Amino acid sequence: MPPDSDPLACPWGWDELEATVAACTACPLHRGRTQTVFGVGNWRAEWMFIGEAPGEQEDLQGEPFVGRAGQLLNEMIRAIGLKREDAYIANVLKCRPPKNRDPAPEEAAACEAYLKAQLALVRPRIIIAVGRIAAQNLLKTATPIGKLRGQVHDYEHIPLVVTYHPAYLLRSLTEKRRAWEDLKLARRIFNQQHR
Ligand code: SF4
Repeated sequence: MPPDSDPLACPWGWDELEATVAACTACPLHRGRTQTVFGVGNWRAEWMFIGEAPGEQEDLQGEPFVGRAGQLLNEMIRAIGLKREDAYIANVLKCRPPKNRDPAPEEAAACEAYLKAQLALVRPRIIIAVGRIAAQNLLKTATPIGKLRGQVHDYEHIPLVVTYHPAYLLRSLTEKRRAWEDLKLARRIFNQQHR
């Protein structure tokens, strides 16, 4: 068991954590879900991508970032020289909010322990917060995403870089260049750790 002082101490193993999430009724979102969307990827990933919450397709397929937004996320991952399966991908919330509305603060709070447990098990070297909701929840701030981008934040001693959600980029292609700048920043920070 990790020491109590470890901010990312995790009381679960992977199987136990996934089963706990699948049975969770800690917030009202469990009522509308088809299934929980736990997370996918490499359990030893150095890069962790964290989005907001499952959408319709994710809720049906049980996997985060599928469909067109998922394909664009895969391109973003490729832009930093990785494959999707090299990274670990999860959301702040494991159940789909109705009509894809923003998560309520109490829903994000109820789900936070699961994401922290995933972070504790993966122990990534860098986190990419994908989209405004993920960034604001992880950093506990209401600062707009435009002001959170372009700098390196700290999440429990792990560097965190903010970028736009691919679903937003699909609607605002002019912002793609900025997202690519975010990824280059993240790659630079990651490389600096390995000097
Ligand atoms: S969103 Fe998270 S806290 Fe709420 S029911 Fe789903 S797994 Fe539990």
